[in-house]
Amino acid sequence: MNRRQLLQSAGAAISLLPGLRSLAKAQAGGNSPTLARVRPGDPAWPSAASWERLNREVNGRLIQVQSPLSACAARPAAPECADVFAQLKNPYYLGEEPGLTQTLGWAGAWTSSPSVHAVAAETTADVVAAVNFARENRLRLVVKGGGHSYQGTSNAPDSLLIWTRKMSAITMHDAFVGARCAGLQAPQPAVSIEAGAIWAHAYDAVTTKAGRYVQGGGCMTVGIAGLIQSGGFGSFSKAFGMAAAGLLEAEVVTADGTVRIANACTNPDLFWGLKGGGGGSLGVVTRVTLRTHELPEFFGGVFATIKANSDAAFRRLAGRIVELYADALFNPQWGEQIAFRPSNVLSIAMVFQGLRQDEAEAAWRPFFDWIRQSPRDFSFASEPTILAAPARHFWDPAFLRKMPGIVLPDSRPGAPESNVFWAGNLEEAGQFLHAYQSTWLPQSLLQRERRRALADALFAASRHWGVSLHVNKGLAGAPAEAIEAARDTATNPAVLDAFALVLSGAEGPPAYPGIAGREPDLRTARQHAKAVDDAMREIRKLAPDGGSYVSEGNFFDETWRQSYWGANYARLLAVKDKYDPDGLFFVHHGVGSERWSADGFTRRP
Ligand SMILES: Cc1cc2nc3c(=O)[nH]c(=O)nc-3n(C[C@H](O)[C@H](O)[C@H](O)COP(=O)(O)OP(=O)(O)OC[C@H]3O[C@@H](n4cnc5c(N)ncnc54)[C@H](O)[C@@H]3O)c2cc1C
Repeated sequence: MNRRQLLQSAGAAISLLPGLRSLAKAQAGGNSPTLARVRPGDPAWPSAASWERLNREVNGRLIQVQSPLSACAARPAAPECADVFAQLKNPYYLGEEPGLTQTLGWAGAWTSSPSVHAVAAETTADVVAAVNFARENRLRLVVKGGGHSYQGTSNAPDSLLIWTRKMSAITMHDAFVGARCAGLQAPQPAVSIEAGAIWAHAYDAVTTKAGRYVQGGGCMTVGIAGLIQSGGFGSFSKAFGMAAAGLLEAEVVTADGTVRIANACTNPDLFWGLKGGGGGSLGVVTRVTLRTHELPEFFGGVFATIKANSDAAFRRLAGRIVELYADALFNPQWGEQIAFRPSNVLSIAMVFQGLRQDEAEAAWRPFFDWIRQSPRDFSFASEPTILAAPARHFWDPAFLRKMPGIVLPDSRPGAPESNVFWAGNLEEAGQFLHAYQSTWLPQSLLQRERRRALADALFAASRHWGVSLHVNKGLAGAPAEAIEAARDTATNPAVLDAFALVLSGAEGPPAYPGIAGREPDLRTARQHAKAVDDAMREIRKLAPDGGSYVSEGNFFDETWRQSYWGANYARLLAVKDKYDPDGLFFVHHGVGSERWSADGFTRRP
C-alpha cells in the first residue's frame, strides 16, 4: 500500500468512526482540517437513528425546524399567510420561532433560512450534546439567541441550530467573585443571565425590580449573548461603557464539547475574545455574569424634528447642532441619536442620565431658541419634548405601557405583561434590508477648527441618504474607567477615540423570495444601496480609517477584519485557533471565516 492509498483508507475509516476521527485529530495536534461539511442527502448525513439518539440525549428537545413562511409559498393568498405576515411585525413572535430571524434577508447578501434540525436547549448539557453531534458528524452548526443579526449569522440552510431562547434565567448577586478569582478580585454586585434571555427581561429584573443598572443594548428584544460578543452599546454607554466590558464571567461550551468558565482568572484569552470578538465564533455561551452599577436618579429624553426650508438653511442647521454637541453634550450624560435626512429634516432622539429635567432643558434652550428666531428658515415638524423620569421606570413595562407611543406590546394572546418593545424598533421587525453600514468618527472632528468639515460631510452625505450620529456608540467623552475597560476587549480600538458611530441603512417591509405578492423589491433595494454607499462615501472622506461595528457593519465590507477588530485581529485569531482549531463555529465575516467558503461548508485549501 503506498502512502496515498494508506491515507485514503485511513480517511475512510475515520469518516465512518467519528470517535476515532476526533482521536486522530487530537493525536495530530487537533489541527487536521475538516474539508467539507455534510448536507441532507449526502451519504454521511446522520441516519434517523443517529438523530433519535441525539434527541434522547437532549431529553426530547430536538426539533425539526419548519419556517412559518413555507406554508405561504404554497398558498400565498390564504388568510393564514396574511396572519403570518402580520405577526412578522412582532419581534417577540419572531424571537420565539426557531425557523425565523428578526431580519428576513438582505438584498444580494442572504435570505433567512431554517435549519434542518434544532436543539431547543434548556441546559448546558443540551448544548454539549449538540456541539459534540455537530462536530462528530461534520454538520454546519449555527447558534441563535435573540435572532437580531443583521448579517444573517444565526441562520443557515442545511444546518443544525443550537437555539438558546429557552435558557433565560436571571440571578442577582450582591458580591460576585469569579471562579478562581477569590483573593484576586474584590466581590462586586453583578447579575448572571442565561444566554437566551433578552434585554427587556434583564432590565426589568435588574432595574425595575432590583433598582440596579446593567449595561446592555438599546433594543429590548436583542439577545444577551449575541450583544455581549458584539461589544454592545446601549443608550447610556457613554456613561457606563461597552456592554462587553461589563462581562465578569461566561460559561462557554467550546468546539471539543468542554464546558469552560472564562473570566479574568480562568481562560483569560477566551474571556478577552468573547468580549467583542463576534458571536458564533468561539463557542456557545450558555451564561454570562455582568457587573451592575448604582442606578442614577433620573433618565430622560429629548425629542424634536426640525425642517429646514432650503439646503442652505439645512447646512447651517447641521453646523449649529455640531456646535451644540461639541460644546454642551459631549460628555457621559448624553447618548443616542441625531439624524440628518435628505428632505432637509433633522431628527433628534437623545437620552440623558444623571441630570434633572431643568438641567436638560437648559442644555438645549439656546439651540431651540435659535431655531425659533428664524421662522423663515426652520419649523418644527414635531415640537421639542424634554422628559425626565425616575430611572427605575425607564424599562418598567407597567409604567411604559401607560405612556402613549413609547412602547408596543407583544400582541399575541396571553403574552406576558413584560413583553414590550420600543415603538421606534417596529420598522426593523421582519425587515428586508437593502443596505446597512457604519463607521466610527474620531473625536478630533469636534475640535473647533474641524467642526465645519464635520458639518459639511454630514450635509453632503444627507444629499444622498439619511445618516445618523449614534453618540452612545463611541466612547470618547466617557469616563476613563469605561474607556480602560473597553480597551481590554477585542473590539477595534477605534471605538475608544470615537465620539460617535455614523449609521446609514435602508430597508423594505417583510418580504420573502418565492412568496407571490411578497417578493423583495430588488430594484428599489439596488437604488437604496447605491444611495447609502454614496452617503457613507462622503463620511469616509472625512474618516477613512474609522473602523466599523461588527454587529452594525456592511455585509459586503471586504476589509472586515480591519474594520471590526483592527490591530486586535491577530490576537483574536490566535484565540480562535486555540479553542476551535477546526473551525466548527463559522459565521459570515467572523474570526477565521476567511478559511471557509461563503456558505461555511467547504474549507479553502
Ligand atoms: C432591531 C435591532 C436593534 C439593535 N440595537 C442594537 C443596539 O442598541 N446596540 C447594539 O450594540 N446592537 C444593536 N443591534 C445589533 C445586535 O446587538 C447584534 O446583532 C447582536 O449580535 C444580536 O444578538 P441576538 O442574540 O439578538 O442575535 P442572534 O442573531 O441570535 O445572534 C447574533 C450572533 O451571535 C451569535 N450568538 C447568539 N447567541 C449565542 C450564544 N449563546 N453563544 C455564541 N454565539 C451566540 C449568533 O450565532 C450570531 O452570530 C440591534 C439589532 C437589531 C436587529
